[in-house]
Order: sequence, then C-alpha cells, then structure tokens
Amino acid sequence: MPLRFYNTLTRREEEFVPIHEGKVGMYVCGPTVYAPPHIGNMRTFFFADVLHRYLEYRGYEVRFVMNLTDVDDKTIRGALRDGVSLNDYTQPLIDDLFRNFEQLGIQRADVHPRATDYVEGMVDVIRLLEERGLAYVAEGSVYYDISEFADYGKLSKVDVSAGRRGERVAADEYDKDDVRDFVLWKAVKPEDEQVGAAWDTPWGRGRPGWHIECSAMAMQELGETFDIHAGGVDLIFPHHEDEIAQSEGATGKPFVRYWLHGEFLLLDGGKMAKSTGNIFNLQDLVDRGVAPSSIRYLFLTAHYRSKLNFTFDGLTAAAEAVRRIRDARDRLRGHPAARDPDPADTPVLHPAADEALAAFAAAMDQDLNSSVALAALHELVNRTNARLHELGSTPISHAERDAALRAFERIDGVFGFVALADRENVVDDDMAAWVEERLAARQAARQSRDFAAADAIRDEIAARGVVIEDTPQGARWKLGA
Ligand code: AMP
Ligand code: ZN
Repeated sequence: MPLRFYNTLTRREEEFVPIHEGKVGMYVCGPTVYAPPHIGNMRTFFFADVLHRYLEYRGYEVRFVMNLTDVDDKTIRGALRDGVSLNDYTQPLIDDLFRNFEQLGIQRADVHPRATDYVEGMVDVIRLLEERGLAYVAEGSVYYDISEFADYGKLSKVDVSAGRRGERVAADEYDKDDVRDFVLWKAVKPEDEQVGAAWDTPWGRGRPGWHIECSAMAMQELGETFDIHAGGVDLIFPHHEDEIAQSEGATGKPFVRYWLHGEFLLLDGGKMAKSTGNIFNLQDLVDRGVAPSSIRYLFLTAHYRSKLNFTFDGLTAAAEAVRRIRDARDRLRGHPAARDPDPADTPVLHPAADEALAAFAAAMDQDLNSSVALAALHELVNRTNARLHELGSTPISHAERDAALRAFERIDGVFGFVALADRENVVDDDMAAWVEERLAARQAARQSRDFAAADAIRDEIAARGVVIEDTPQGARWKLGA
C-alpha cells in the first residue's frame, strides 16, 4: 500500500513519492526561541516526530532539518527587555527546548540550524531576488514585490487581488487580510545594534525578516527542491506562502513537493498561545504528576489535522491506556518460554502480531491516521491478554513470544510512549531507599496500632507516584498507577 499525505498545496491526499528513491528531505519550522515552549508548540513538534519516525519505519533514509528562529521581532524584544545580547537571551531557551524534547521523547532532527548562523545564505537569496526583479529597496529595507510573482497565494489561496499593490508590511507576523509586499531585510535600528542583531550587507546594516530565514536554511540544508515541509497551520500564511515566493522566485524551481500542517492544541476550546497566556508548559504538567508518556498517547488519539482539546480527564484516560498496553507487554515478556513447545499448540500470537503490524501500517499510510493505528495496538493487547489467560502457567514458545514482542516494539518505535513510560518508571536508588524507609516506618506505626500515622505515610508514598500492594509476604511496591 502506498503512503499518502494530505498536501496543503493541492488540498488533496496524494501518494507520497520522494524525489530520490528511498530518501526523504524534510524541513519543519522550529520554534522562535523567545519563551519556553508550551504543550501546544509541543504538539506540533510531536507531529513532526511521528512523521519522521514513520518515514523511517517505512524504510526511508530521512534527512530531517528543524530550524531555530533566534532572530526576529520577538527575540530582539526579549533580549532588550532582559538587557542581554541576543545570543545570551536565546541560548538558555534553546537548552530548555531540548530538555522538553527529551522529556517528551521527541527525537532531535539531524540538523537544528540557527538563523543567526545562516545570514550569508539569506543575503544570497535576496540578491538573486533583486536580480530577478522581485525585490526592491525602500527606506533602507528590502521588500518582496508580490505582484511580480505570478504564483503568490498558491499555498494559502489568499485573495491576491484584494492586496493593496505596492503597500508594504515590515512585521514578521501579519494576517490574511494583509496581503502586501513583505520585508526580506530590515534596515538596522539602534535596538538591533544594542543586542548584537545587525549584519553588513550590500543594502547596508540590518537584519533578516523571519520568512527569508527559513527559505535560506531549508535550501542550504536540503537543496533547492525537497520533499516535505511541515509546521503548524498558523504558518500557512504568511510564513509558508512567503517561503515559496522567496525560494521559487530566486531559483525558478519548485521549492517543496508536500506541505503538511498540524492543527492546534486547544485549552478550554481556545488556542493555546503564549500571547494570551492560555497555556501549560510541559514542566507545569510534570509538577502536577502527569507522565509525559500519557501526553504522547493523548496526542496520538487525534489526527494531526484535527484540533485537540486538552483536558486532565483526557490525560487520565491516556495514562490508563499506556499502563494497560505496557502491562500486556510486560506480562508477555515475563511469561515463561519453552524451547520445545507442545507440537499440538498453535502459536496464536504469530498471526496477531502480523495483523497488528499490517493494520498499524495501513492506518499510518493514510495520512498518519494515528487513532486508527492505536486501535491496532489495542487489538494486539487484547489478543496477548487472551493468549496469556489461555496459557495460564503453560510456557509459550520463544518464537511466538518474540513475534508478539517485536510487534509491540516496532509500533512503539513510532508511537514512543511505551519506551518513554519505561524510562519514567526507572526507579533510582535514592527513591528506592526512601520508599523502603517509609514502608518500614509505616509497618512500625501499624504495629503500635497508630493507624492514622500509617495511613498518612501511605499517602505520602502515593504522592510520589508509588503504588503499594500489601501481600501476605509484606508490602510490595512499584511506580505508576
Ligand atoms: P512559535 O514558537 O510561536 O513560532 O511556534 C512554534 C510552532 O508551534 C509553530 O509551528 C506553531 O504553529 C506551533 N503552535 C503554536 N501554538 C500551537 C498550538 N496551540 N497547538 C499546536 N501548535 C502550536
Ligand atoms: Zn519557518
């Protein structure tokens, strides 16, 4: 079955055919590093992560580039406010971003270019645009003349005729009613110099506009034409429209074959956005005891092109689903296996594993239909549980166990929430020593019939995410629900 993606450029689902067989070049617009990312941003980067992982699952050799916008209106404003250089302002935010990636199991791209390292390439693209009559200088800045680029509007379908010819917009962000000539290079301002955000060019000192940054970084890292460009839906206009105008205007070649856009994460029905403060950061959630593995699961329950409303109930259900899946995998792993199974025994998990993998891939091939792909995993869990129940204490054959375990592992190679939950549930030695000491104190309290104290200790332990099970042999404990 072919892999298909919904292409924003054509507004259709299309078969994915890369330019070079077996290889994929993919660019994702990374964050503007002016504030810590919220989990809405993380949904978009998670979508890119799943796309990247699934392309690799499909056997493609992927070159994945995700930029870091470290110079734009917002980072300069932030550096000014804090009285530091642009670099000193963005570096801790970049470190924080990668900590968030790590916590959510988001794999890094092959390259994370920073805009400030690619200014020369941006100047080259602008020079080409000027030579081709697509750019002009006004008041020391350079603007793109959209009336000279016949394809302007082809991605976002904005009404170009409504644009006010010759009028200009200098801001990095503007909306669909603002179809105007946009800035490529901005004449220097004193505050740019103050934070070290100014470069010399043929048009004098200044700094790049946001859109030219991505055109230059993408083409430098992936070539003039590449396979996939992705980002959040809010980037379709003006950012991606302008990237096309710049890149295709400069090279005369198609820029990108498939444009993929992820929908927003909502909070209480509104967009989760830094500008409104209507946000949760990953750390806020972790501090409330949320496991990042359940966030990964929650994100997978919705198609990437659908809005997803963030709720704590949704997270609780997600945590329960992760636990159930991981439990089945663990029980299968721990089930005794025999080298020579009973010849009369039919290995029922072989077909279950094959069917799960086939159903998983069929769903993901349909424009990454992750919720249907999740259902394939749940079916494998059901069949594993039924098989273990049927076997009771009878050993399973190595081959049957390994086939099913391999299916779990392959699917999670894309989803990633089981591996993340494994990591979250590794107990470090300090934690283990603490729990043992508290359990001993609880036991002592019980022996002296101080049940209130014993219960208080139990709650104290539970607050650290530890579950206690009292058995005739004494208390046992583990992490997780
Ligand atoms: P920014 O750092 O604001 O440039 O945003 C980085 C990425 O996060 C962009 O691709 C945005 O489209 C995306 N984004 C921002 N808010 C949300 C949200 N609430 N849900 C999903 N993606 C978002
Ligand atoms: Zn971009």
